[in-house]
Amino acid sequence: MEEIENLDFFNMDRRSFLKVVGAIGASAFLGLHHSDISRALELSKTKIIWVHGAECTGCSESLLDAGNPDIVQAIQKLNVDVVYHETLLAQQGIFVDGKPAGTSEMNSEILLDEAIEEGDYILVVEGAVANGPDGTGKYCMYGERTFKEIFKKAASNATLIMAVGMCATYGGINSADSDIADLTDFRGVAFQKVNPSKGMLTELGIEKPVINIAGCPAHPDWMLLTLAAVILGKVDVNDLDPILDRYKRPLVFFPQGNTIHDNCPRRGYYDRGIFDTEFSGDACLWKLGCKGPYTHSECALRRWNGSVNMCTQAGSPCISCCEPGFFDNGAPFYVEAEDKAILSGVNMDTAAKVGVAAATVGVAAHAARRIFFNKDDKKEEEK
Ligand code: SF4
Ligand code: SF4
Repeated sequence: MEEIENLDFFNMDRRSFLKVVGAIGASAFLGLHHSDISRALELSKTKIIWVHGAECTGCSESLLDAGNPDIVQAIQKLNVDVVYHETLLAQQGIFVDGKPAGTSEMNSEILLDEAIEEGDYILVVEGAVANGPDGTGKYCMYGERTFKEIFKKAASNATLIMAVGMCATYGGINSADSDIADLTDFRGVAFQKVNPSKGMLTELGIEKPVINIAGCPAHPDWMLLTLAAVILGKVDVNDLDPILDRYKRPLVFFPQGNTIHDNCPRRGYYDRGIFDTEFSGDACLWKLGCKGPYTHSECALRRWNGSVNMCTQAGSPCISCCEPGFFDNGAPFYVEAEDKAILSGVNMDTAAKVGVAAATVGVAAHAARRIFFNKDDKKEEEK
């Protein structure tokens, strides 16, 4: 019995574990190793704080649509404790004299503060962080506080930050060109559009490991598989460079050598120069504004909604919602990219008509891919 008591529970493999439990009975084992087991559960429990800035909650909705595993299975299997999630918690927040009143059970503002104070959590950020007006952050408020202030506290104590969706990663629609963009000054966690020097972490002088799950919304599998890889220790959070591209997107989901165009179900039409000019046809959507040839993501392989469908398959041109700089880079959505003169004079019609469509179009798309993004956005494929 003494020998069993002194067994190293933490380093026991499953076979030995079952043998010991079988030999002395489960309840005796639990009694002997009660504190070890409690410690093990404590250690394996991963806390997640999920905060929302300027966004539409589409990424949380996307997460709730996850199919295999679904969100409940994922939380149970990964032993995750979602300590705080703005839209999944019952909404509470009583203020007296400008201060949150009550306890953490009664008031989610206090719960959030306590969870941040405890530290040791993965911070998931959905939504952009307002820096405006004039660096105050007052264009996005959490109760009585700015989201910028909440983000600063939450980011400072996190072990890892996972930014989900285009708003949190690169600013998204909040950072799109407009007359008020400079005033509102929305930032992504580590970038504003493609500019890392304008990310909110840089603005605040905070250094933390960041993973960007791009997409508008982010695919549920991309979020859950990334969380699983981190929680199960499959990736070293202190050495993320080998698994991320220069925009901090996981290479496995955003492959630099492939675009949506490479695996698009409509690709055969493209190669034969057969293009739809009106919606609801069967052919290639290039002339309706498809940006699939410039978009590095695995949508056409993984597909969406339980791997049933994806944009181009369903008849909607890809609007490049996974590329940094979205949506300015993808706009205007339903206008042929050639109209923006990004193909440097190559005419898709002519290319198709003269019967060298496949080769010429391929070269044109390759050229377009180079020109599509900002000049300082050096081509990732060369990495
Ligand atoms: S241009 Fe768009 S619709 Fe056409 S084959 Fe490429 S990805 Fe598919
Ligand atoms: S196909 Fe294009 S628009 Fe659709 S989800 Fe993928 S990247 Fe976004």
